[in-house]
Amino acid sequence: MSALDESPVVMAARLYPEMARKLEIVRRRISKPLTLADKVLLGHLDDPAGQELIPGSSYLKLRPDRVVFQDVLGQTGMLQFMQTLRERVAVPTSIHCDHLIQARVDGASDLRISVLENSEVYDFLRSAAAKYGAGFWEPGAGIIHQVVLEHYAFPGALIIGTDSHTPNAGGLGACAVGVGGADAVETIAGLPWEVLYPKHIAVYLTGALSGWTAPKDVILNVAGQLTVSGATNAIVEYIGPGARTISATGKATITNMGAELGATTSMFPADEHMLTYLDATGRGDLAPLIQQYASMLFEPDAAVEADPERYYDRVIRIDLSALEPHIVGPHSPDRARPLSHLAAELKSAGNTIPETISAALIGSCTNSSYEDMSRAADVAAQARAHGLKAVVPFLVTPGSEQVRATIARDGQLDELEALGGTVLANACGPCIGQWHRDPRATATPNAIVTSYNRNFPRRNDGSPATMNLIASPEIVTALTLAGRLSFNPATDSLIGADGKPFMLTAPKPAPEVPPTRFAPGRTTYVAPPADGRDITLSVDPASERIQLMQPWAAWDGRDFTGMPVVLKTRGKTTTDHISPAGPWLRFRGHLDKFSDNLLNGATNAYTGEIGKTTNGLTGESGLTPAQAARQYRAAGQAWVVIGDSNYGEGSSREHAALSPRLLGGAAVIARSFARIHESNLKKQGLLALTFVDPDDYDRILDDDRIDLIGLDRLAPKEPVECRFNHADGSSETVWLKHSYSDAQLQWFRAGSALNVLHKSAA
Ligand code: SF4
Repeated sequence: MSALDESPVVMAARLYPEMARKLEIVRRRISKPLTLADKVLLGHLDDPAGQELIPGSSYLKLRPDRVVFQDVLGQTGMLQFMQTLRERVAVPTSIHCDHLIQARVDGASDLRISVLENSEVYDFLRSAAAKYGAGFWEPGAGIIHQVVLEHYAFPGALIIGTDSHTPNAGGLGACAVGVGGADAVETIAGLPWEVLYPKHIAVYLTGALSGWTAPKDVILNVAGQLTVSGATNAIVEYIGPGARTISATGKATITNMGAELGATTSMFPADEHMLTYLDATGRGDLAPLIQQYASMLFEPDAAVEADPERYYDRVIRIDLSALEPHIVGPHSPDRARPLSHLAAELKSAGNTIPETISAALIGSCTNSSYEDMSRAADVAAQARAHGLKAVVPFLVTPGSEQVRATIARDGQLDELEALGGTVLANACGPCIGQWHRDPRATATPNAIVTSYNRNFPRRNDGSPATMNLIASPEIVTALTLAGRLSFNPATDSLIGADGKPFMLTAPKPAPEVPPTRFAPGRTTYVAPPADGRDITLSVDPASERIQLMQPWAAWDGRDFTGMPVVLKTRGKTTTDHISPAGPWLRFRGHLDKFSDNLLNGATNAYTGEIGKTTNGLTGESGLTPAQAARQYRAAGQAWVVIGDSNYGEGSSREHAALSPRLLGGAAVIARSFARIHESNLKKQGLLALTFVDPDDYDRILDDDRIDLIGLDRLAPKEPVECRFNHADGSSETVWLKHSYSDAQLQWFRAGSALNVLHKSAA
């Protein structure tokens, strides 16, 4: 059996002693107690003896145990892997078909139609997986993070994935990080994975959840405290006695949504709940190994947990027993408040959130565990007993075929359907804009409630008028009965079919795994053959969906001068704004077609328009940024994007860097960057620069031409000179910062990180 086919227990038996050996070397060097994150990260160092170890400053070179791709970024990932000239992935790898399945009617028919619509993409991915030695999870298998939790994650594993909610696997004690496609491609090509050594944040939990409060409320509360950028370049560890009271899937909900804080990842120490889940998912044979290494590898040193304020950069303390159900949004996951405060907020002056709910959705990769569905079904059963059904459209997304088959077997699905729920395919669907919603429902401001994780405008149905408020599955299910956001099931009554008022009781504590084992459902996994070299990749040259990629040109050694600003964005500019999903998702494998959406959702800082700009060379207005960029490229003129704070937050969407590169962009200059997007820009050979003085953002005028000077002297930590040339002939010089290491500057000079890799394979 090759290392690529190893079961988790075989992998762990090889990995744990190796981690212990590396940590011993590290401990001799730094001689201080270690946090959980440090143990797992530093136990995966490529060079534990020589690696520089300064949190927030050093770039760690690590050896991940597994790489996972979802289908959208898997296309680009495999297209880029072809450019490395490798014959086979060097690290266990899997590809998951989950993002492209549209929600129209119900799970069965939606899956059938989506398989037909996306056959070119699935055929390409299936052939690439087989050729290069990756596992392939077919459409309908489930959402990547749920499948990883069920099959691949285990305490101490280092997993990287081309999706920002990869940290879901932290619920099983893995260090699981969302990365750009280029990072993933380099890793499967056999290079170490490089990441900024994260800082350390602890959430110290005491007490235990009860009543209507769920694991979701922990992360909704933390999101309110830390905000969407408060954990940038940090790992969040959930420690303390309360952490050991939460089920493994509840932990996964919390670590999944840690992505909304900008965290590198989030993790829990190993405990009995993880062993219970591993056993229920057929990996019980890991237990003796985990127990053997638990204190050494899978929990913080005792001194750290006893005095966290001394060892973490920041500590948040939460008493689970006192935590109330929360609800966050709309438009940002850090707009948090206890549910009990929402009714008053809706009545307050200036409120813009509609009280009436237009649709309710539960499930997704974040909240579709057996426990979640059981608690939602408990609420549904209470409604049935009083003759009530959901008064708003109610959509249920099982996270995986295994969850779907199990809750179909055990009755939860029947209960949710009896409430009026429509069960969608085991896929992302409405969570990523693949929701065919009646346009009449989205034309005017409308509120939806979901148990999802991300709620930026347009995220779910493509409409800026839709406001997504996020809560736990049991709260969302309760809200379907009242149809209004001002309802609080803990204090408010409903009217039963008999005309009498009644109150819901809090759902009973639910089993964290099924009493009998999970039902596997239909077979959805295709293992790669032992040797795939003779397999031909399925790519039609006339395809609208898949386009083979060519290496980017190397930097020509000259400064970038006279660059127009393709768009200066104002306010929140997420990767959803830079590279919108929804209907564009179908073109993700065809970069040229896809790039027409560049910056379509971003706000023009000068005019306030969304996705509109002016050609700075010709004065033509009303263009999309992609149109302007194509005109500049045709004129042989490089251009620049100016971004606001935390530019590129949100999904780890590599196309937000690929599209500007394809269309001739040279640099993005922002007040600050989100971590993954900054890394993606670097990998594609673009310059990611930030203002030394953030106020210089305001000095750029819409018809300025920008020079970047002295690029042949670019060096780590050295500022970059930038000149704004104003239309009146005047100019001013400002200074820019960057975070490029020496190796990353090679990417810029070679044209991309892949070009550097390509050279090393040739
Ligand atoms: S967050 Fe949504 S789109 Fe992303 S993997 Fe989860 S279900 Fe899919």
